[in-house]
Amino acid sequence: MDFDLNLKGKCILSAEDNEVNQIILEHTLLEQDVPFLIVDDGQKALDAWKALDPVLIFMDISMPVMNGIEAIKQIREIEKTTGQHVPIAALTAHALTGDKERMLEAGADYYLTKPINPMMLLEKIKEILGADLTKAII
Ligand SMILES: [Mg+2]
Repeated sequence: MDFDLNLKGKCILSAEDNEVNQIILEHTLLEQDVPFLIVDDGQKALDAWKALDPVLIFMDISMPVMNGIEAIKQIREIEKTTGQHVPIAALTAHALTGDKERMLEAGADYYLTKPINPMMLLEKIKEILGADLTKAII
């Protein structure tokens, strides 16, 4: 998969396979003028992270090819050699006991429960990147 290298170092990466959630993510991020990329499986998320060095990742957990847990684990494993740390917010519909711990143990910094909504996303973006979103991104 080819990535737009103009996004390198300044985009939000979202990995999400559900079309409705993709639309919510897209509309929310478009309104905020934030450069972003949405991919639909964990392998693409891993590849996009390597290519684009995003400022933040929203990672769905249940996805085809490679799930979010595995993608997060691989990112954190590679980061051990670089000393870098990309903020990752895990998104999951699973409200099972222990699920939050599983996400955090894999290496997620934050945990969001679906259904996702624009306010929830924006609050999390501001919390992670700072109130001055534009400055944080550019
Ligand atoms: Mg999913």
